[in-house]
Amino acid sequence: MPENVTGSLVLDGKWVREQIFAELKPRIAKLAATKRRPGLAVILVGNDPGSEIYVRLKIKTCEELGIYSEKITRPDTVTTAELLGIIEGLNQRPEIDGILVQTPLPPQVDKDHVLRALNPNKDVDGFHPVNVGALVENIPGPRACTPVGIMEMLRRYNIPVEGRKAVVVGRSDIVGKPMALLLLHANATVTICHSKTSNLAEECRRADILVAAIGRAHLITREYIKPGATIIDVGMNRKADGKVAGDVNPEDAKALASAYTPVPGGVGPLTISTLMANAVDLAEQHLCSG
Ligand code: NDP
Repeated sequence: MPENVTGSLVLDGKWVREQIFAELKPRIAKLAATKRRPGLAVILVGNDPGSEIYVRLKIKTCEELGIYSEKITRPDTVTTAELLGIIEGLNQRPEIDGILVQTPLPPQVDKDHVLRALNPNKDVDGFHPVNVGALVENIPGPRACTPVGIMEMLRRYNIPVEGRKAVVVGRSDIVGKPMALLLLHANATVTICHSKTSNLAEECRRADILVAAIGRAHLITREYIKPGATIIDVGMNRKADGKVAGDVNPEDAKALASAYTPVPGGVGPLTISTLMANAVDLAEQHLCSG
């Protein structure tokens, strides 16, 4: 575990990622030995620079771990029908265990329709309503990657969750809502805040565990932080100089929190680790179910 040099523990996402990858490698080797390497297909539409970077990273990580990957690109003039056709083809192919549709999609595409066309057993991002239902019911199924990665980080740093007060700022389908449900299932007492919350600072100050998934650079400052809290900063906000800022003011987190995630190097590496873990889980399930 990385050293605590400041008195406030810096939660190192790369350390967690390396642990997860080390645990995945023998599982991938075992699958490969049965000629059943995990396979991930990534669909990338258009030329959004952010999406291109994420997809490149995902493919590179697959290569490093020995996961078969396939990138399918389409111009931003693609139609919903064309994407549905691609997904239908991938749903049928046994060597593809996970399908990922990189968002955002262009406005003419019916995103919900596209995501719902995925076979839920290949929904490596855990966004399909069947898998969202499984999350709500707390039954197995692929889960949204970033929140699962955060739970793994809390577990691996021995940060207790049960009985503690957790506040999640943000209620998106990909981060805020699944995060709140995972914390709830781990027996935290959970509050979800959003843009219409009154007295946001007061709500946040009650949190033993504060998760900021807002998309507003440094919105969370010292008056939002309970001394001794654990702060998880999901935000990735691109600044004018090209650098990335979190949703939390790092100086204030450092001064007040008992533990906090840096940006970059905190939550970011967790998301990709969970994606790889989900792909391996799905491959193992597909092998078992023949
Ligand atoms: P969304 O834009 O989908 O959701 C943002 C949420 O924050 C909404 O629920 C919104 O409320 C709420 N919000 C916005 N402004 C305020 C405010 N002033 N006060 C309180 N709540 C507010 O974003 P995502 O959930 O997709 O992502 C959030 C951040 O996390 C982004 O910076 C994104 O880049 C980053 N991210 C990072 C990942 C990683 O791997 N590190 C992975 C995924 C996301 P309302 O619902 O009322 O509009």
